[in-house]
Amino acid sequence: MVPCPGHGHLIPFVEFAKRFLLLHNNNNGVFFHVTLLVPTHGPPSPSAIAILNALPPNMDFIFLPSVTMDNIPNPPTHPIPRMKLILQLSLPSLRQSLTSLSSKTTLVALVSHFFSIDALPLAKEFNIFSCVLYTAGATSLSFSLSFPMLDKEKINHDHQESLDLPKTVNVSGCPVSFQVKDLPDLVHFPRSSEIYKSYLDACRSLTLVDILILNSFNHLEGEAIQAIQRGKTSSGLTGPSVYSIGPIIQTESSNEANKLDCVTWLDNQPPKSVVYICFGSGGTISHEQVNEIAHGLELSGHRFLWVIRPPSKISGSAYLVTKKEDPLEYLPSGFLDRTKGQGLVVPSWAPQIEILAHGSTGAFLSHCGWSSAMESIIHGVPIIAWPLFAEQKMNAVLFTDVLRVALRAQQSDAENGGNIVVTREQVAEVVKRILESDEGLEVRKRTRELSDAASLAVTQNGSSNMGLSSLAQKWLESIA
Ligand code: UDP
Repeated sequence: MVPCPGHGHLIPFVEFAKRFLLLHNNNNGVFFHVTLLVPTHGPPSPSAIAILNALPPNMDFIFLPSVTMDNIPNPPTHPIPRMKLILQLSLPSLRQSLTSLSSKTTLVALVSHFFSIDALPLAKEFNIFSCVLYTAGATSLSFSLSFPMLDKEKINHDHQESLDLPKTVNVSGCPVSFQVKDLPDLVHFPRSSEIYKSYLDACRSLTLVDILILNSFNHLEGEAIQAIQRGKTSSGLTGPSVYSIGPIIQTESSNEANKLDCVTWLDNQPPKSVVYICFGSGGTISHEQVNEIAHGLELSGHRFLWVIRPPSKISGSAYLVTKKEDPLEYLPSGFLDRTKGQGLVVPSWAPQIEILAHGSTGAFLSHCGWSSAMESIIHGVPIIAWPLFAEQKMNAVLFTDVLRVALRAQQSDAENGGNIVVTREQVAEVVKRILESDEGLEVRKRTRELSDAASLAVTQNGSSNMGLSSLAQKWLESIA
């Protein structure tokens, strides 16, 4: 498996592999083994190391040699083209690792991330299955699969810098239309930019792979999953085979950072009283927004547990670079003293899975990254949707308008696509709405229903377990 750089993406890879190996560790004498080939640029993060050091015996990992960008004129700073470049620079060592592995064992498949999809031509070289583990939802995958067509249709001449999109866009398998501002942010960059081109390239490559593995389940996104499967048949049976095997989430945090403090603090709070706030493994917000959230939490009077990072104007700035500053210094003066009995603020990282599983957690203010949302739904915790980048705005629409497991802060300027700050009053309002109102109760009830459906999907005869079995069967047939 070739995850892409950035440890948030590592978690679904590891969890998928663990579950696969748990259910299919011995198929008529065939023992599967997973090796993670991890591209690096500089030293790997402590969270990534913690995750990899906790692998079970039938999995291992190799850090590919750290690549250098010293010879690259103007290396990209945006995480997506940067991840793509790191992967491309790692291809020689990846090929070397595969050669070495193939001399010791029978290779069956190469599973890459959407943003390490450039590794997949190597699958052809080694004559094994090329697979993508798509770590976001079927709805966004459905959009990504249609994007190359949109790019073709919505331009009038080759040098046009942006797409001529209508006000709303339909996505196959999704019952609501998406406003243009809610599409993945990568489509809004100029067509000549590396960011746009990286996304378009990855979308085009998706249709060329043998197998797409989806961390979703029928009850959640059945229509979108079917639309992707239908797309395959309508294109003449040449597209990838699709397996939906989710929701697969981590069961415990391998990173111990702040674990004891968070769990002990939650143990002393009333049931379902705490709003947990976290923007994924690398999401960041502006200093002004940190201020407004802080004041809004104070105003709401509700309990909170907040994972805070040094602010940045770039919303995904902590993905590939960890700033050394103390994030607590950016809080409003006196905030920590004034909220001593009301909240806990922890720097950079928290044991999210233990927090969402804790009975005191009542809501999750989340950037709507797919893994975070699946973790919240499985634990029956309703979401305050606060999307930042990538496909998160699409996810927010899905969770709010289609699945009704989330509420959103009122943010009128956002309707104009502006880069607005949500005010303290709006923060307080949405926190109260989710924890106190009938609407909040309804969202909680709906989240519990989906949580039950998620549990069913991964039971022995559940749809997702069947998906995993079919995948194991396909891989086995190739070595029979
Ligand atoms: N996570 C965590 N503690 C943190 C922040 C993130 O355990 O303080 C984990 C979280 O449980 C999830 C992953 O990191 O499994 C974040 O993945 P997601 O898809 O939600 O967001 P991304 O990091 O890809 O933006």
